[in-house]
Order: sequence, then C-alpha cells, then structure tokens
Amino acid sequence: MNELNPVWYPFTHLKTSDEPIKISRGEGAYLYDDQGNAYFDAVSSWWVNLYGHRHPTIVNAIKKQLDSLDHVLFADFTHDPAEDLARQLLELNNQKFAKVFFSDNGSTAVEVAIKLCLQYYSNLYGQKRSKIIAFSNSYHGDTFGAMSTGARSVFSDPFSHLFFDVQRFDYPSTWIGDSNIEMIEDLTISKIRAFIEDNSEDIACLIVEPLVQGAGGMNMCRPEFLQKLDLVCMEFGVLVIYDEIMTGFGRTGEVFAYQKAKTKPDIICLSKGITGGFLPLSVTLTNKKVFKAFYSDEKTHTFFHGHSYTANPISCAAALASLSLIQQFEKDRKRIEFFYKSRIEELIQSDKIDKVRYCGTILAFDIISQNDSNYLNPIGLKLKKNMLEKGYLLRPLGNTVYIMPTYVSTDTVLGQILDDILIYIQSY
Ligand code: PMP
Repeated sequence: MNELNPVWYPFTHLKTSDEPIKISRGEGAYLYDDQGNAYFDAVSSWWVNLYGHRHPTIVNAIKKQLDSLDHVLFADFTHDPAEDLARQLLELNNQKFAKVFFSDNGSTAVEVAIKLCLQYYSNLYGQKRSKIIAFSNSYHGDTFGAMSTGARSVFSDPFSHLFFDVQRFDYPSTWIGDSNIEMIEDLTISKIRAFIEDNSEDIACLIVEPLVQGAGGMNMCRPEFLQKLDLVCMEFGVLVIYDEIMTGFGRTGEVFAYQKAKTKPDIICLSKGITGGFLPLSVTLTNKKVFKAFYSDEKTHTFFHGHSYTANPISCAAALASLSLIQQFEKDRKRIEFFYKSRIEELIQSDKIDKVRYCGTILAFDIISQNDSNYLNPIGLKLKKNMLEKGYLLRPLGNTVYIMPTYVSTDTVLGQILDDILIYIQSY
C-alpha cells in the first residue's frame, strides 16, 4: 500500500497489502466499488450486517431520529430510543436478564462484563478476585481486558507480557463426522471442575463464545458442552459471561446462541448485528444477581464506567428498527441453513477439505494444507484475492474458509460462491 495514504487500516500489513478497494454503494447482499464492480458480501462486512445493506426500515428510522435528537450525554440524562431498546432487548430475552448497560463496540461490551464480575465480588465481599476462566482460540476484542481473555495469537503477541492471567481450557470444537467429541467434552469439563474446586474463592468469572468461536477459526461446539458447563458453573456459583457479539441476532439459527443451547449465562455481550450493521453500538445484559450487587446505599458500589457515545440515540433508533425485522427474517435464516445442509455431502467428499461444519447461517471448513493451521497460512490470502476478482468479498481465517452471509443472500449466489471456492481449492 502506498506509504502516502493517510489512513492506517486495521488488521492490514500496510507495506505488502494492495490498495484497498473503494466502496461507494451498498445494496442488499452486494457492495459496489467506485468503478461499478459488484461484490457479494459473504462475510456481512465483518459479521455486522443482518438484512442487507441499506435496508429501508433502518435507513428510515435513522433519518427520523435525526429530526429530533442527535446525541446527549447518558448520565443524569436519558432518551426514548435507549429506554425503548433496553425494554425490547429484555423482552426478546424473555426477561432472563434484568439490566442493559450500553457501550459502543464489542470489545468494550466485554470489558464491561469482566469489570462487572470483578466488582461484583468487591462490592459484596470486599474481595479482589483474580482468576478468570477462558478458552483456547477465543477472541473477545482488542482492548487489554478483551485481549487478555482472548487466546494468545499473532494478534496479541507484542502485548502479551502485560496481560492479566487467565486460566484457559480447550474449546471442544467439533465437525460433521467427528466421533470423539463427547469424550473430549467430558475431559474438558472435568478439568474445569477440578480447577474451580481448587480455586472457588478466587474465580471472578468464565467467558466463552457460545456455539461458535469467530476470529479464532469458526470453531463450533455442541449445545451439550455448554449445558455441561452451565451445570458445573451453577454448582459452584461461577459467574458466566457469553460473548454473543458475533453469534447474536440469529447467526446460529436462534436469535441468541444461549437460547439454542438452552443455557443460562449471567451476562451476555451483544454488538455487531445489533443495529443491523449500520452504526456502532453494544450492550452488556446482566441478570438480577449481578445487578443486585451494585444496587446499594454505598457510593463506592457504583459502576464507574462509561463512554462519550454511550447509547447514542441514532444508533439506538437503528437498533430498534433492526429488532423489528428479526422475526421476519427467521425463514431466511432457516433457508440458508437448509441450503448448507444440501451441499454438505459434496464438501465432505472433497479430499482437499477437512472439518466441515455449520451452525445456523455460518458454514466453515478447513483447507487441508502443508503449512500450519493458523491466521497467517498463505492459502487464505490467495483464496481471498481470487474470490475478489470473481466479485466475492470473502475473508478466510488462514486455511479456514467460512461464509457468514446477510440473511437476504439468495441460494443462487450462495451456490455460486461455494462452486467457485471449490473450483479454486481443487486447482490449488
Ligand atoms: N467478541 C467477538 C466474539 C467478536 O467476534 C468480536 C469482533 N470480531 C469482538 C468481541 C470485538 O468486537 P469489536 O470489533 O466491535 O470491538
């Protein structure tokens, strides 16, 4: 990339990367560059977009909000869009949670969740608990707390000497045809149980990406694992955080992954799809147990955390409009999952592909490769370039290929992209 370009792009090796493609328009499942070329958005623009670009319901809600209130600080002041959104989010979760804390991106929603758990023990018992349980290959964001709980990787290596300590267990990833998974899950659960038994007075929380780990490689676990985990955590009263920043709002089939898994986290973090992919916003939902530890006469029990753009009214208006569409698109989520199912046998048969898996609207598999299975595996970059030339926005994670389309993506275009991926892989 040209050194004179004033922009420092994220997750981009500036010296060797090509110039970025200038996008001037988005519509439905497609993005258009300034030359008029169309790109099928197979990754929902980093997993944020749900109903296609510029869905009119969300566009109109944003326009309407601009006629009344742009932004106001969110302490000592409030507004309808935030209160309505909080109420609707609690309803959507069948009142399993009691409070909605607003922030403005996924990483900060995770920071909030971790800080709430730490302060919970401080408020209730004056304890400074220090042990957090997390999983291998997890990704929770790029701020320090989120990075500390995330797996150590090429993303976080330069900073790892300053991370707080996290007890990490294997995420029991599974795929179609995997026969050992129950045993692996049970082994992981018994290790977690032993750790909790030995440290129960010092554990602040457990954090997990439920059903699907995103950036760590689209690894998928069974609902049964989360149910077993739930039982152990409940037995010992360990606070459980579900990072549903990627899985939320229908990606796994159900609106939230915990609903599909039939489990009961204490806290969930939501962002990305919350505004349908239009504007930054995030929320951390907590149950009554957590909230009660903060609702006291003691001033030091306040949760001293907030951001300038917390609960921005325009973002909240976009989120309310997005929520109004969620049920309407249930049949499309099912359609996409059904489409994946119809192509699974063919994927499994390929001798170039391994670990085929899908969950809701997410399909993933690994390209069998001589190089290490990690983010820097060159096959991902090559496939990305080839797909761009064909008009697809695809971003493999190293040798892991995944599709996470918007819910308006047709079976026809999903079929085309899969065909083209397979043609490339076969010739590689
Ligand atoms: N958690 C998960 C599971 C994510 O996938 C991401 C983003 N990819 C984050 C947290 C961080 O979100 P953000 O990029 O909005 O900070």
